[in-house]
Amino acid sequence: MEIAKLHQLFLNCNAANTDTRKIKLNDMFFSLKGENFNGNKYAAQALDLGAKYAIIDEPEFKTTDKTILVENVLKTLQNLATYHRNYLKTTIIALTGSNGKTTTKELINTVLKQKYNTTATIGNLNNHIGVPLTLLSMTKKTEVGIIEMGANHQKEIDFLCNIAQPDFGYITNFGKAHLEGFGGVEGVIKGKAEMYNYLIKNDKTIFVNLKDPIQIEKTRNANTFSFGTNKANINIKFIKASPFVFCTLDEILIKSKLIGAYNYNNIAAAMAIGKYFKLENDIIKKAIENYTPTNNRSQIVKIDSHNIILDAYNANPTSMQAAILNLEKQSGNTVAILGDMFELGDEAKAEHQNIANLAESLDIDLVIFIGENFYRAEIKSIKFKSFDDFKNEYDIKSIKPSTILIKGSRGMALERILPLF
Ligand code: ATP
Ligand code: MG
Repeated sequence: MEIAKLHQLFLNCNAANTDTRKIKLNDMFFSLKGENFNGNKYAAQALDLGAKYAIIDEPEFKTTDKTILVENVLKTLQNLATYHRNYLKTTIIALTGSNGKTTTKELINTVLKQKYNTTATIGNLNNHIGVPLTLLSMTKKTEVGIIEMGANHQKEIDFLCNIAQPDFGYITNFGKAHLEGFGGVEGVIKGKAEMYNYLIKNDKTIFVNLKDPIQIEKTRNANTFSFGTNKANINIKFIKASPFVFCTLDEILIKSKLIGAYNYNNIAAAMAIGKYFKLENDIIKKAIENYTPTNNRSQIVKIDSHNIILDAYNANPTSMQAAILNLEKQSGNTVAILGDMFELGDEAKAEHQNIANLAESLDIDLVIFIGENFYRAEIKSIKFKSFDDFKNEYDIKSIKPSTILIKGSRGMALERILPLF
């Protein structure tokens, strides 16, 4: 079926759906295939559950005229998303980067929704399926779409940009994440910069943090709107992060509820984009001040007399370094409970050793490492405790009142430490 015709049918549907457990009446169900499942098998069930149409790519699953046979369901989902995006003509802001995409996306959404009808990526649905689904969730009412794009190998961001066709883009940073798939730091820069290439080629606009030399270097020939230094298009300054990030926008004090100096960049980006989209300063201030993070992303948890910086959502060398440097700046006794960082390939040993060396060089009172990689790192100081896994070997209750950073890769699930306090 032609995409234009399929789109006509889609406009009469409730939403695009790829999961029979979440079917709502009149959804268009896309029978995707994964390594361990074949969505075609669920097409009939989706229709029974109320889907208006089911898109399939294996003829033997065609049961009624509501099952629509295409060559490739995934490709069809992606093409339909692009068609829909162009049909709506919504303004699209795309985000990628090694760290801080979701936080920045949520901050931008919080700001822009004060004035516009927005649709943003839900949670972390930032891949070749999530991006199309987000685009298809936009309606005629949507004025601005804010789309997170994740990648762990080359050409992925280029692919996602061609689907979403953004008008604006921002790369949060070029850090050491997914080194394995990208092929080292140079690979990360090249892979993420595919977004810049897309925006430059199409004469679109890039938001640039002037504190980041790579962002400056890679956007020399671009239309830009900048923040970050006194040469920037707007005036935003860092005040402190102890523990919450305070900064100014046109000399107005903004008191965020986010912790970690690294979150200053995320807040600054959201405020810059708010200014570009003509929001008033007091509206931006209120939006940022009212935003509280969820999902283990840099939350402060108070247990007894401890201030716990719970950052157990994810970790890679760049975000780990930022989090440890931030911990050192906190007053009183400081403790770091750090879990292994995944997906580092050949760099794993060296990067864990780097973090161990960094932690050793800083004024942190106690460091507890958890995980096989950290366990193998060479450490000299007695302030280090190291466990290949953690099952109560260290008496967490013996820690005196402290600011405690808990951070590790998702697979380490370090939030499991909390009940031990
Ligand atoms: P994912 O790749 O999982 O989608 P993400 O890029 O969306 O991650 P967030 O979920 O916003 O990133 O943040 C994850 C963690 O990265 C935070 O908890 C924090 O430790 C760290 N982080 C956030 N922003 C930055 C930043 N600007 N620089 C360095 N580290 C950051
Ligand atoms: Mg994310």
